[in-house]
Amino acid sequence: MLRQLSIDPPLARAGVDRDSVVRSDPKLFDRLLSDGDTRILALHAGRVPMSDGHLVLCRVEDVTSALVRVYLGRTLVEEQGAAAGAAIILNILSDNAQRELASRLDAEWVELRDIGGVLTDRDAGLVVEAVALSRWHENYQYCPRCGLPNIVGQAGWVRRCPDDGFEVYPRIDPAIIVAIRDQHDRLLLGGGRAGWYSVLAGFVEAGEPLEAAVVREVREESGLNVAVDAYLGSQSWPYPLSLMLAFSARVTDDDADAALHPDGEEITHLEWFTREDLWRRKEQLRLPGTASIARAMIESWLGRPLDAGDEHPEPTPAPNTFLAGTDIP
Ligand SMILES: [Zn+2]
Repeated sequence: MLRQLSIDPPLARAGVDRDSVVRSDPKLFDRLLSDGDTRILALHAGRVPMSDGHLVLCRVEDVTSALVRVYLGRTLVEEQGAAAGAAIILNILSDNAQRELASRLDAEWVELRDIGGVLTDRDAGLVVEAVALSRWHENYQYCPRCGLPNIVGQAGWVRRCPDDGFEVYPRIDPAIIVAIRDQHDRLLLGGGRAGWYSVLAGFVEAGEPLEAAVVREVREESGLNVAVDAYLGSQSWPYPLSLMLAFSARVTDDDADAALHPDGEEITHLEWFTREDLWRRKEQLRLPGTASIARAMIESWLGRPLDAGDEHPEPTPAPNTFLAGTDIP
């Protein structure tokens, strides 16, 4: 078992087969749009419609316009508004099309980062895929080689230059995020905005292995020297186009308190937390949202959800999870 978080990353869930082999079929959209089971996921400015706690998937005839269409795949389970095996198409809407649709739908238009933690597996997978693709389409409308407007192909999965044929694919920017523990199994939390506390993160640089990025980012932001001890898992974070790769690391400095030196720019405050400290102060601290992998990392270490009541049982270390305090195999 590779993933070692005891609480799964909320946006790493899925209930859709991406069905990538059919993307090259030039008649794909004609076929799917005439199938009564096909459903449309409408998206505008990073927001999707929700109603009664469920993602709203529309019928084809209800959402006829799109700035860009993308084939997201086929559902694996029957769920709210779509049969098992139904094709799901993303329609990225113009301002006018969204206003028109919103006037007909009884729905609230919400952002992934606000609702990703409460969506079902299918919907979390669909929405993170949709938001990542929409951000890419928005920002990569010109050929990087010659500057001409490029053309969408492969069911929305490539943009191709009409002149020189240069192809660009959905971009992903890898970023590491790291839970740092000291010799007493305390967790390092901090941030750059007053009151905010999270684990450290940063982009991987060109030509750099992930483990080296962890060591470099931690030293830059905190002054600490660390050794990576486990890969914990990953999830997409399309703000703007990141893939978060989570690690745990141990401080190698002899004195973990004395070695702390926040960089003063990205990170202004850093503190070591015991589990008891964090549990006691959680209402006063501004902690990462429920859709973030940072929260899953903190809760895995803590051994219980941050919004659990005091009656929630004390954490019990389990083998092969990040919670296991002392030595990770
Ligand atoms: Zn070109």
